[in-house]
Amino acid sequence: MKLPILCYHKVGPESEEGRFLNVLPATLRAHIHFFRRRRMRWVRACDLAKGWPDRAVCLTFDDAFASTLTYGLEVLRSEEATASIYACGRCVGKTAGALFDVGTGIDSSLATWAQLADAFRAGCEIGNHTSAHQDLSQLSLVDQAQAIAEGDRLLRDHGFDPRSVCLPYGRHNAETVPALRATGAGIGLALSTRAATPRDERLLLPRIVIGYSDGVPKLLYKLYLRPRLGPSQRSHYV
Ligand SMILES: [Zn+2]
Repeated sequence: MKLPILCYHKVGPESEEGRFLNVLPATLRAHIHFFRRRRMRWVRACDLAKGWPDRAVCLTFDDAFASTLTYGLEVLRSEEATASIYACGRCVGKTAGALFDVGTGIDSSLATWAQLADAFRAGCEIGNHTSAHQDLSQLSLVDQAQAIAEGDRLLRDHGFDPRSVCLPYGRHNAETVPALRATGAGIGLALSTRAATPRDERLLLPRIVIGYSDGVPKLLYKLYLRPRLGPSQRSHYV
């Protein structure tokens, strides 16, 4: 059974968060209604270590932006949906400039530890996005394991129980799976343009990036039509 794992970033009004890596709260709500109408249930990435779900969808939010923890969490709460939210331990409470390479132009606020605790209490998973958003594809096995293990420790030091790791930029190399195994990670999330299947490597599960213009029609395209068009050379972010 295919499992769509959707990758969101920011959730906020355009006036505050712009369009890049952002979806409007109303768009997230429309997606949730879409899945509910199809009688799909919510799973968090950490739940996948227990078994492969039937008729489910997994909502994931990268980087733990402050807007996601306010506007996005409010939507999740009111719709009784759960999700996995990925934070970089060294970047919590800072701005996104601490996360990304220069040039993205994004400097939105990142969530505080208190905001993450709020989401945790609401049933969301707070997962590991490495300690400082390292590009694992550029690192040795030892350095990857260190970035993952430090991120895990920082979250645990603040009372969280991360069970899954989200790879920054979705990037990885041949040493990433061994590094994830060495740190005891059960689930790892990468990026692709298709839903996950039970045959996929659990430490490199594919996710579908969701962007500002992805209302329900484009969500349908990304979920059901695009995978049939064959491998794409375009960016995962398109
Ligand atoms: Zn990220």
